[in-house]
Amino acid sequence: MKAFKRHLAELPAYPYSHHRAPIKLDQNESPYDLPPELKAELAERLRSLPLNRYPEMDAESLVRQIAAFEGWPEEGVVVAAGSNVLLTALALAARRVLDLVPSFSLYKWSAKITGTPWEGVPLGPEFELPTTALRVHLEDEEEPGVFFFPNPHAPTGRFWTPEVVRALADVAEKSGWVMVVDEAYYQFAPADFKRHAKELGQVVISRTFSKAWGLAGIRLGYFLTTPELAAEVRKLLPPFRVPTPTAVAAELAMAHPGYLAEVVEKIRRERERVYLELKAHPSWRVYQSHTNFLLVRTPDAEAAFNGLLQKGVLVRRMDDQPGLEGCIRVTVGTPVENDAFLKAAFELAEESGAQRQG
Ligand SMILES: *Cc1c(COP(=O)(O)O)cnc(C)c1O
Repeated sequence: MKAFKRHLAELPAYPYSHHRAPIKLDQNESPYDLPPELKAELAERLRSLPLNRYPEMDAESLVRQIAAFEGWPEEGVVVAAGSNVLLTALALAARRVLDLVPSFSLYKWSAKITGTPWEGVPLGPEFELPTTALRVHLEDEEEPGVFFFPNPHAPTGRFWTPEVVRALADVAEKSGWVMVVDEAYYQFAPADFKRHAKELGQVVISRTFSKAWGLAGIRLGYFLTTPELAAEVRKLLPPFRVPTPTAVAAELAMAHPGYLAEVVEKIRRERERVYLELKAHPSWRVYQSHTNFLLVRTPDAEAAFNGLLQKGVLVRRMDDQPGLEGCIRVTVGTPVENDAFLKAAFELAEESGAQRQG
């Protein structure tokens, strides 16, 4: 590929491989689709959409509705077909990217494809926040960049209080860094960072319709930030970028947010149940989570992944990142799906126990 930029030569593909299984717990999707009455209304609205026309340049009416929903100034809202698109745009703009290890793998991937210098600071052995090391980077005023901080954290499920995040954001702001607080899972956590972000000039909150809202298929994410930062991010994005059906689906969901609280409550309850039951597993260790997934450390991620898959349960291997040796990640599904996962997990333990004895 001589015609392509040199930095793309050693580029890894985005780390995701597709598998089929009756029970799909590998992508942190909601197990619940849009409620049937909303789905019917969506179909009705789609029927009358003029698909021959372009959507609005910056999805202005959708932006207005998100701004109202979030209580955030319109000028500070940026939307795209998935928060992934927005996060990659920020990596493109950044002089350098500061990341955690492990973290949401999209941040590093975005830095790599855009040719942006990347540095990762390891979490502690129990995924503690490396505050001192982070401060050293964030105090660098000579060459500030963009710091990606998922909270609750993916893929560990850990949550840091707004006060802890604020302390880092204050350091970042002083030296000109932009801090992205990625709140893809905030609905499942005890608190969010919005109130603090309002007081800060260099923070971006990233949110998505892909997880709690149960709308991963429509592809929609957004930033809440300052008008100045929002304007800079918009410059990097293609015009007319939110497909009309996507905007219509999101507007409909936001107009009927009642289902969201119900779904979140069910998933939180199930998450705690699966966590407690899995704690009794003889060879796996489950980590506490404030998201819709659980990180599990096993003696051998490949064996756990394949064993579960053979029993019809698809999870995600996470052992490609330093600090996640042996780890798999399992999405919290419906009670029936979670039972199938738990059953498979304990059967695997019995089978390997029997093997050791025999
Ligand atoms: C799932 C997820 C997203 C969502 O990305 P979309 O492109 O909006 O689907 C963003 N950040 C993290 C940490 C996630 O886990």
